[in-house]
Amino acid sequence: MSSLKRDERGSNIKVAVRCRPFNAAERKSSPCVVDCEPNRKEVTLKTGGHNDKATRKTYTFDMVFGQSAKQIDVYRGVVCPILDEVIMGYNCTVFAYGQTGTGKTFTMEGERSEGEQFTWEEDPQAGIIPRTLHQIFEKLSENNTEFSVKVSLLEIYNEELFDLLSTSDDITERLQLFDDPRNKRGVVVKGLEEVVVHNKDEVYQILKRGSAKRKTASTLMNAYSSRSHSVFSVTIHMKEVNLDGEELVKIGKLNLVDLAGSENIGRSGAVDKRAREAGNINQSLLTLGRVINALVEKRPHIPYRESKLTRILQDSLGGRTKTSIIATVSPSSSNLEETMSTLEYASRAK
Ligand code: ADP
Ligand code: MG
Repeated sequence: MSSLKRDERGSNIKVAVRCRPFNAAERKSSPCVVDCEPNRKEVTLKTGGHNDKATRKTYTFDMVFGQSAKQIDVYRGVVCPILDEVIMGYNCTVFAYGQTGTGKTFTMEGERSEGEQFTWEEDPQAGIIPRTLHQIFEKLSENNTEFSVKVSLLEIYNEELFDLLSTSDDITERLQLFDDPRNKRGVVVKGLEEVVVHNKDEVYQILKRGSAKRKTASTLMNAYSSRSHSVFSVTIHMKEVNLDGEELVKIGKLNLVDLAGSENIGRSGAVDKRAREAGNINQSLLTLGRVINALVEKRPHIPYRESKLTRILQDSLGGRTKTSIIATVSPSSSNLEETMSTLEYASRAK
């Protein structure tokens, strides 16, 4: 019933859950506690003994992807509708949220199949980023639109901003955030490299540069890959001629965000520097949760300003934008607690 109501309302925030397959270590020892029903859009979590109804909890989402779901299924279900909005000139965001090791990066970036000669975007393992860029160039060339595409890649670690596409060799250079005087919902990330890309193959090279920088960052900063948020943004300028023969420029933006591991929430009991780092990660992840809840409940005040992540995404969350959250979980009983908290977080976002 609640899902019907939601569809009627046409919510701008959609929540999908993706459960990854077992890995080798889990398969040996731990039973499956996550039951996905893609058709009913339900996920059932077994929180207690086997087949005991009293210890199952069922959650309903906008979309559910089980262990056998392919990268292309996730792309078609979640990203295609969003990309249509972006091409109409709106700002949209797709988040991957979940415990470290559950497939956020696999979902957003994907991997390369070994030994086989697939192009980047044709690889069945390719994630949302390569598929999206491929589609952008395909669709816009088909439409005969004059267009240009720019990408940026910034990461937030410990509430500090790093530019992964910067031409500087010093990865530790931090970027500053300012309010945009020309746009009351926008911010400017001073000095952020925005790279113009002419075709999808160029993007591949650019992202390779980004991951090399990410590697350096992870050697310098503690638990960088699980604590940092990665924001890949594509901005499209499209030239249109209206019925009066006037030229108009439409601008659409898509943010593809690989969030810090959700286990970083609620573990700030640690010591000193670690605590500060964990605490600050809480800041962006916790604030994102609050912003999404405030948007879902249509509250008058949305606390965008309380974290770097939500400030950066302010012009792409709420208002006439569309947001999708892909919550990733492990099927294994060994991750039950984190899986439950991910499903609870994701449910609150509906
Ligand atoms: P995260 O970014 O959430 O920490 P990763 O994307 O790095 O997690 O995934 C952890 C491991 O699980 C990787 O080895 C990845 O290849 C594998 N994996 C994740 N999701 C899937 C999936 N849907 N199908 C197959 N392997 C997956
Ligand atoms: Mg990752």
